[in-house]
Amino acid sequence: MRVTLVGAGPGDKGLLTLKGAERIQNADIVLFDRLVCDEILAMIPDSAEAIDVGKNAGHHPVSQETINRLLMEKAKQGLEVVRLKGGDPFVFGRGGEELELLVENNIPFEVIPGLSSAIAGAAYAGIPLTHRDYASSFHVISGYGKNNESPNINYDALVRLKGTLVFMMGVARIGDICAACIAAGMDTSMPAAIVENATTNAQRKFLGTVETLPGIAYENFVESPALIIIGKVCQLSGPYDWFTKKPLLGKRIIVARAKPGVSKLSDDLRELGCHVTELPSAKIIPLTAPGCLLEKKLETINSYSWLVFTSGIGVHVFFDYLLERGFDIRALHHLKIACVGAETEKEINKRGIRAAYRPAEYNGAALAQGLSGLIKSGERALIARAKDGDENFTRILTDSCVDFDDLAIYEKIYKAKKFSFPNADFATFTSSSAVEYFADTAGDFDFKKIKAVCIGRSTAATAKSYNMDVYVSAEATIKSMVNKIKELCVYGN
Ligand code: SAH
Repeated sequence: MRVTLVGAGPGDKGLLTLKGAERIQNADIVLFDRLVCDEILAMIPDSAEAIDVGKNAGHHPVSQETINRLLMEKAKQGLEVVRLKGGDPFVFGRGGEELELLVENNIPFEVIPGLSSAIAGAAYAGIPLTHRDYASSFHVISGYGKNNESPNINYDALVRLKGTLVFMMGVARIGDICAACIAAGMDTSMPAAIVENATTNAQRKFLGTVETLPGIAYENFVESPALIIIGKVCQLSGPYDWFTKKPLLGKRIIVARAKPGVSKLSDDLRELGCHVTELPSAKIIPLTAPGCLLEKKLETINSYSWLVFTSGIGVHVFFDYLLERGFDIRALHHLKIACVGAETEKEINKRGIRAAYRPAEYNGAALAQGLSGLIKSGERALIARAKDGDENFTRILTDSCVDFDDLAIYEKIYKAKKFSFPNADFATFTSSSAVEYFADTAGDFDFKKIKAVCIGRSTAATAKSYNMDVYVSAEATIKSMVNKIKELCVYGN
């Protein structure tokens, strides 16, 4: 039984601490805030309960008292409770208040700090908060008072200190804040910046002076969450800008997933500055309980000559099972192994095995046709794949009189995720099933509006069947898909 306050950092998932990540992955229950990003929420294990206690400025869907009580009650049930908060829990995060009841009730707790947006946001905006030539201190101030009142800020003292001022929760009051600084004697030409959605690929930054910034923020519809930074150091923000140099900054891309876990495509696109939305998320259930079909097939593995994988997940589930059961991999030595594409082959190679066959083109039909010519009469194939896999694949084998067993070793369960279609520049599809599930989730959407970047011809054909505007990567690899998107963004289409 324990409660951990975990700081999730400012938005870029890479800025979460290792200790915070470990605690989230081992939680029984996670209570999270509005500012915690989706990629960090995706780390919450499926077995854990996740409660959104998100707060919008001035509006509290779940009251602070309820949150405090929930933390205590869940801990008393013996659960590993994580309270996940944006930035750092003790920087305007009410972390202190949430500990009171735990202290009173002798509930053990820990606090794992997070990178506050006050610091990280400045770094991503190219603003060094201190600098020997310009500022020897920085001050973090709330622009929002208790019970929605004006906060009681001593502007005279702040301005006299001559440090960098960072206002949080200040967007709605930016006019008052800047006017108060000027009234307290600040030079009207003092450089100032506002940074919205700092550290995320939706980050926007505007520069001005303490006098002009409110108008600039207003004209550009800057919204919360944003930081107002006032001080001479803001003049370095132009030359020190590194974030906006990302080649695909702000491009909105939907990565349609057919499998859960880390998506290399999403990570690579984020690295280039894309704003990625992953849809929908699936859960893989290995069908490897005691007495499972896989166990039975392994008993008669000598009767097969071929072992066929149609996905990287299949390879994972198969070999994880062998490991778990203490099965000696040399018992497979007589099998020729076939795989559908480069990613699946990579998974096989990682286990020290070379594939005997991979079709030139990444698709199930090409694999089935290739195998039909390779599997000799008298030979048998074991197809280790998902439950309810592509029927076309097995039909081609049956039509070619191939002797095979279709073995379901895992099942995919899709969590329906409601989404409002963001104004995406592209959607990416790495399999036909990703297209299908995307289409299911999107409902009545006009698919003609979707520029679909597909990994191979059969995925492209599925996307075309929904009338999407289709582009195909040169090769069936993630790298090639990323290159295609770069090409389309840079040269248009
Ligand atoms: N504990 C948080 C702050 C919570 S108060 C932290 O340490 O960062 C909420 C305020 O934080 C917002 O109104 C905004 O001013 C600031 N903020 C949080 N995340 C931000 C982000 N990604 N970009 C800009 N400002 C952010």
